[in-house]
Amino acid sequence: MIELRSDTFSLPSVDMLNSISKAILGDDVYGLDLTVKELEKKAANMLGKEAAILMPSGTMANLASILAHCPRGSKVLVGDKSDIYIYEAGGASVCGGVIYEPIKTEADGILKISNVEKAFPIDIHDPQFALPSLLCIENPSNRTGGNILPLGYLEELFYYTREKEIALHMDGARIFNAAIALQIPADRIAMYADSVQFCLSKGLSAPIGSIVAGTEQFINKVRRIRKMLGGGMRQAGIIAAPGIVALDNMAQTLKKDHTKAKNLARYLSLIDEIEINASIEINMVFFTLKPEYSTDKFITTCAMFGLNIDELEPGVIRAVLHRNISDEDILDTIEIIKRAIPLSKQEGRIYR
Ligand SMILES: *Cc1c(COP(=O)(O)O)cnc(C)c1O
Repeated sequence: MIELRSDTFSLPSVDMLNSISKAILGDDVYGLDLTVKELEKKAANMLGKEAAILMPSGTMANLASILAHCPRGSKVLVGDKSDIYIYEAGGASVCGGVIYEPIKTEADGILKISNVEKAFPIDIHDPQFALPSLLCIENPSNRTGGNILPLGYLEELFYYTREKEIALHMDGARIFNAAIALQIPADRIAMYADSVQFCLSKGLSAPIGSIVAGTEQFINKVRRIRKMLGGGMRQAGIIAAPGIVALDNMAQTLKKDHTKAKNLARYLSLIDEIEINASIEINMVFFTLKPEYSTDKFITTCAMFGLNIDELEPGVIRAVLHRNISDEDILDTIEIIKRAIPLSKQEGRIYR
């Protein structure tokens, strides 16, 4: 099976698996797992933050960050196409009494400051209104095509949140993809956020884990919340060790993933029935079929022929490249797609 539904399908490398058996372990709830400490220090350094903490998942990383920033009854402003808003089960409302306020996500992944502004009441002293305490942004923005938010935008947004006296959290699940695409160190991106989360388990290929980075005081708060949520892990060095390998070796892997995405997009653009939707900035290709084809049928047919891809929004298909996809897999992908298209014609008229 060629698995292009997500880079979460990337498998740990042999080096990662070997690193697990050699890892120095301890009880991390006691703060005694040296491998976890090493990963946290390395991650904090790479993001230019005082401290970092290993989390079991990106979802818990975002949730603990929101809970650490937001008092109960306050609002967290999130993109209406963000992972936090769509895919994380409303955790901040359920666990923290925090109100999500969705802000329109533009086609290039940004949240316009004029739209963020609308979330603030005209009179902040009027007791009727819940007040925003945090703005979350996603960089790169996954559902709009893997768009990298421009540094100039991040800077302006960061200073806007200073004016408004709210915190800024960056869901940087794939922040290293952005850094590598822009050819800058990740701390140049992370500097425009109070807290950042990134995933070790996406293109970085580690089996499990995410990191939250921020000030030492903030990370201490996150550490308590992580325990409350059940995310305090004992010999977590077995997770941290592959994470260290990921951070040490990732540049080459992610760069290759980006090249693979560009290659796939180039081949796809030669197929008449396909339209590429967004510029290829990282490891994702978004495309649509001409209206006479059924996306549903197309995806099922591709799966039958050995290719898994996903429909992210009605009619919008996403293919994500990762470490375990070879150049040959890309050629096979194109062959499968070419065979699946004629079998995916829409039958009859569709009034929906
Ligand atoms: C995958 C992802 C997450 C969540 O990470 P999990 O480890 O799957 O919980 C959060 N934000 C973005 C943008 C993601 O792509």
